[in-house]
Amino acid sequence: MRIWDQVDFSKLCKSHLTGMHREMLSMAKCFVYGTGYQNHPEMVRFRNNISAFIKTHVYLVKEANKRGYNFKNLPAYIYTIQDFNFNMPNPWDDQLNKLKSKNCNCQI
Ligand SMILES: [Zn+2]
Repeated sequence: MRIWDQVDFSKLCKSHLTGMHREMLSMAKCFVYGTGYQNHPEMVRFRNNISAFIKTHVYLVKEANKRGYNFKNLPAYIYTIQDFNFNMPNPWDDQLNKLKSKNCNCQI
């Protein structure tokens, strides 16, 4: 479960882009229904920054559309959370170095 917000999404490989999308859909459900991995560092990081979370996903979909992928938007129920904090919370580790260590096609 990872949101690569410190990385230009155009640099992400297909696997990381699609993985981030799937994980954000799952996280949205967890935020609204209080289920799942509530103590995961990404859940903790975005719990009080839902607007930043939504904004990040909008940019992710924009990048996916540029590549011709058909990513769905976050489900409407995410907007039941009243949050106007668009500030991006600090990452919990060094995302660039983490991605560099992966054996994938990210252009990092
Ligand atoms: Zn990658």
